[in-house]
Amino acid sequence: MIAEKMRPLVENNSAIRAMFEEGKRLAAIYGPENVYDFSLGNPNVPAPEAVNRAITDIVAEEVSTMVHGYMSNAGFEDVRDAVAQSLNRRFGTQFHLENILMTVGAASGMNVILKTVLDPGDEVIVFAPYFMEYGAYVRNYDGVLVTVSPNTSSFQPNISELKEKITKRTKAVIINTPNNPTGVVYSPETLEQIAAVMKAKEEEYKTSIVLISDEPYRELAYDGVEVPYVTPFYHNTVVCYSYSKSLSLPGERIGYLVIPDELEDSKAVIAAATIANRVLGCVNAPSLMQRVIMRCIDEKVNVEAYDRNRNLLYNGLTGFGFECIRPEGAFYLFVKSPEADDRAFSEVCKKHRLLVVPGTSFACPGYVRISYCVSYEQIERSLPAFEAVAGEYGL
Ligand code: PLP
Repeated sequence: MIAEKMRPLVENNSAIRAMFEEGKRLAAIYGPENVYDFSLGNPNVPAPEAVNRAITDIVAEEVSTMVHGYMSNAGFEDVRDAVAQSLNRRFGTQFHLENILMTVGAASGMNVILKTVLDPGDEVIVFAPYFMEYGAYVRNYDGVLVTVSPNTSSFQPNISELKEKITKRTKAVIINTPNNPTGVVYSPETLEQIAAVMKAKEEEYKTSIVLISDEPYRELAYDGVEVPYVTPFYHNTVVCYSYSKSLSLPGERIGYLVIPDELEDSKAVIAAATIANRVLGCVNAPSLMQRVIMRCIDEKVNVEAYDRNRNLLYNGLTGFGFECIRPEGAFYLFVKSPEADDRAFSEVCKKHRLLVVPGTSFACPGYVRISYCVSYEQIERSLPAFEAVAGEYGL
């Protein structure tokens, strides 16, 4: 009964499901406190108190039919204006409400922009390691995913390979900074280089190529590192933002797209993206959450909690002899597997009740991703297990 196009997605999902089931099985045998699940990217830091207060205040103070009603498919105008003004204050941009389209999180924002720009056979370039869902999103619109191989010395993108892989059919390039799974923040030099290559290729082929900047981790950056805003670097940029991580609201499904005026045919793209939001079945982003964003525009989660986790885990693991670049953002550590086969390594980890995700799942074999959006105590309790794994490999 199910469509051919769905089959690979179902198969892939069974692997994730198997990991989840294994976690449950181990927890039943050893007790949940003795199973160290580092596989998920689900924030453990609670949403700011202001978010909960905003929900009750909105329900008490605002007009019910407005709060729960339909609105423009792009979202409430006052909310979009508040988002635009907040970006302008923070990044010196000149956005106005028409540039902002409220979405059902980044996942939906990515689908909206890909549906808006892709014709069947169009190519979309991603840099390995990358968030695996990109492949599914691109295939939703019969696009072709083209992968640039990883630069494992710094995990900044491989620019010379980008130059080689852009063709006449390239319609979009996706970047993700701070990055899942590496935690790397792209430097201004990296963004300048990507922009220069894309501009030169647009001129060479007389085409338009969209740079899609997927930014759910923008606010999670450490050691005072700046996460450069991408739109000033390249004219055809679309930003895909989410509050899933920045306000710890992944279940609420709220985010937005920025489609700037500088983008070619900007007005037509905004109109098309608004229709894409509707016909994909989202219709509009959740209305109550849009009202919450309006009131919580400058709120932040406790990033220090993630920073403490990062330091404890990074220092612990490198102390045991594991190799890993120090992440500057997001909440992931991308650790080199001591054997070439990252799946075999993650099985060894599992023997020690450590659940990690093989880098193969991010198109980067030879590494594993460890999510540190878990309690500090879980990391403390897990360290002897990581030490034992290091011992098995003679590190
Ligand atoms: N993009 C990246 C890189 C992610 O890691 C995630 C979620 O983990 C998403 C997009 C989807 O986020 P959202 O919850 O906003 O749909």
